[in-house]
Amino acid sequence: MIAGGGFGGFYAARALERTLPNQSARVTLVNDANFMLYTPLLPGAAGATLDPRHVVVPLRAELKRTELVIGRVSGHDPAGRTLAVERVDSSPLELAYDQLLIALGSVSRTLPIPGLAEHGIGLKSLADATAVRNQVLQCMDIAESIDDPARRREYLGFVFVGAGYAGVEGLGELQDFAAHAIELYPRCRADGMRWVLVEARERIMQEVPESLSRFAQRELLARGIEVRTRTELLALSQSAATLSGGETIPTRTLVWTAGVKPSPAIAKLGLTRDSSGRLPVDRTLRVAELPGVWAIGDCAAVPDSSRPGSLCPPTAQHAIRQGRLVARNIAATLQGREARPFTYRTKGVVAELGRNKAVAITFGVRWQGFPAWLIARTYHLLLMPGIGRRLRLLVDWNVALVFGRDTSAPGRLGTPTPLEAEQEQG
Ligand SMILES: Cc1cc2nc3c(=O)[nH]c(=O)nc-3n(C[C@H](O)[C@H](O)[C@H](O)COP(=O)(O)OP(=O)(O)OC[C@H]3O[C@@H](n4cnc5c(N)ncnc54)[C@H](O)[C@@H]3O)c2cc1C
Repeated sequence: MIAGGGFGGFYAARALERTLPNQSARVTLVNDANFMLYTPLLPGAAGATLDPRHVVVPLRAELKRTELVIGRVSGHDPAGRTLAVERVDSSPLELAYDQLLIALGSVSRTLPIPGLAEHGIGLKSLADATAVRNQVLQCMDIAESIDDPARRREYLGFVFVGAGYAGVEGLGELQDFAAHAIELYPRCRADGMRWVLVEARERIMQEVPESLSRFAQRELLARGIEVRTRTELLALSQSAATLSGGETIPTRTLVWTAGVKPSPAIAKLGLTRDSSGRLPVDRTLRVAELPGVWAIGDCAAVPDSSRPGSLCPPTAQHAIRQGRLVARNIAATLQGREARPFTYRTKGVVAELGRNKAVAITFGVRWQGFPAWLIARTYHLLLMPGIGRRLRLLVDWNVALVFGRDTSAPGRLGTPTPLEAEQEQG
């Protein structure tokens, strides 16, 4: 039984399909959506170089031997070895298991900052990416119709808080998108936009060495993006963000990308959690307190073999490797063989900055600018499962390169227009 069909759960299911002899075991995967979201491409969907449908992997199409249950994991009975699921039609379901893999991922970690929950937007799901893109376009539409320049400013101010790769990539792509879109708004173009990146630590992109972080910062500054390091968000209202230096930025759009915490479902499993809410596992990815239970990815506290005493960072590349290893270990357990420890050293990092530029490290070699961008796109192209989906990415990217980004804002997408009842005549 696999709970969660993101990077960890999907790659574990795929590896189990390949490792387990036919008909030797039944593999069930429970996920709250029928697709795996390829999150590293989410900024591309937000920035309109990619169609949102092209950054997901349909689970049924890729996992032919896995039974798929679409629903939310809502509880767990460790003694009875059953998982409680609420299906999409809200009906409850109890699933018994012999071996349970928990790969429920993470959600945005917010802080108790006044106004953040009410007015901030995350960048963690497909809905978030579409919402952020629509918000940017809607703000420009509104600003274009306002006569008072002071009021226009709040609609043309955009703030990102958190300068990890999600924040920097998200801001880079969206600012690039908005810089193209603003050409269609004469009033907004005359006023110009304001983009601000806020980071509490001393430098942006802690995931990459300082030289690449400096390159990324120079690149953002050259585009007129303001970078505030050692700065925190203190409060957010509908029309302004207040920062720790006392500065107030007029804005209607604040995107919060300052870290993640385990999925809230982890707290409902009746298992011991560490101080950050993750499930502690041993080096073989086993949850020590309950035989036959395993955990991987962002929701698990996995010892990092390359940095003794530390835990693996919450990245897709770790979740994928853990997924493959845990599948091997589960198969080994079923076949009476030894489980292997998780040993993985980060092979590299890629982060796109928009405007055909990126920073990357591959096997210790540092890249920046256009060569890094080519590496980043090639890497994602190779990693995306399925030749059809790779081709879709290629087509989207090339169409955007030649014809620019799509500037429509399909705000009500997914919400059908209610039919109006016809009044009876006479
Ligand atoms: C914008 C962005 C960009 C990123 N870029 C990179 C990058 O370039 N490189 C990199 O290595 N990492 C990147 N990451 C991090 C990466 O996405 C995560 O580390 C990775 O997805 C973790 O995999 P996972 O399987 O643990 O969780 P996930 O991939 O999040 O999968 C968890 C799954 O469980 C499902 N789920 C959650 N709760 C329930 C429930 N109660 N019931 C049923 N299903 C549930 C979720 O819907 C999801 O499908 C990025 C993240 C973001 C947000």
